[in-house]
Amino acid sequence: MTPLPPEQRQQLATLLAYCREMGGIDFYRSEKDLAEMAADPVPAQTAAEASQVTIRSAPSTPLNPASPETDPTMPPRKPNLLTPPPIIDFSSSAIAPQERAAALQTIRQEIGDCTRCQLAFEGRHKIVFGDGDPNAELLFVGEGPGADEDEQGVPFVGRAGQLLNNMIAAMGLGRERVYIANIVKCRPPKNRVPEPDEALTCTQFLFQQIGVVRPKLIVALGATAATYMLGSKASLSVLRGKVQDCMGTKLIVTYHPAYLLRDPRQKAEAWKDLQLAMQFLNLTPPKRAGS
Ligand code: SF4
Repeated sequence: MTPLPPEQRQQLATLLAYCREMGGIDFYRSEKDLAEMAADPVPAQTAAEASQVTIRSAPSTPLNPASPETDPTMPPRKPNLLTPPPIIDFSSSAIAPQERAAALQTIRQEIGDCTRCQLAFEGRHKIVFGDGDPNAELLFVGEGPGADEDEQGVPFVGRAGQLLNNMIAAMGLGRERVYIANIVKCRPPKNRVPEPDEALTCTQFLFQQIGVVRPKLIVALGATAATYMLGSKASLSVLRGKVQDCMGTKLIVTYHPAYLLRDPRQKAEAWKDLQLAMQFLNLTPPKRAGS
């Protein structure tokens, strides 16, 4: 039994607070076990696992015997890329901070009662433009509105939205300090994944919003956001765990809160992603009583 250094205790206490807020303790032992680990000596190996913030790289995949790499008669693989998103020149003159709210409003007016893609005709009630601080350093991008968002016209207000709020709070921020938007602004029927033509049509407005807000970091929530933000069809396991270049700013990928609600065991992995974002933005988690 090796005593934990103070900084690892702090990390465990932070993880515990995060787990409580996210409503998922049982993914990592029990709440009691975790609380004890934060306060008491624990086996060195367990402490290292629990406090690890470095993200594992994706496991290498063995070559399929029938793949193009091993069989020259097979056609080559198609590149794992979509149309790349535009580069936003963050070095050019920015819109002044006090004018960004108005600039976003101008984009909203340009969208109007949009019928540029099929989602306008599949039961949409409200266009969900985006929400938050026009000068935010951190910008979250999700997939698309769900039923609650479609009803209210605001992104991430349902159960997944509550979990996202908790994730933001665990980072030491409030929702009012970040900006939140989606790949598509209208609800896909039955919450299906947006079709490529829908996503590629609608992201023109998202990219304009990003150009106005000019965040230091974008967090892509889930595979659809990662795909269209990075122009890559690579899996989340490949895209997570590193700070990526995206449109002239930086981006990390994590799981969508709706997925975390379905599989709470992945919340520990999402917390690693958020810690990576916090390191990049020099954020410290909020102090908790007793921590
Ligand atoms: S999803 Fe976007 S492009 Fe499609 S109708 Fe809605 S606002 Fe227009």
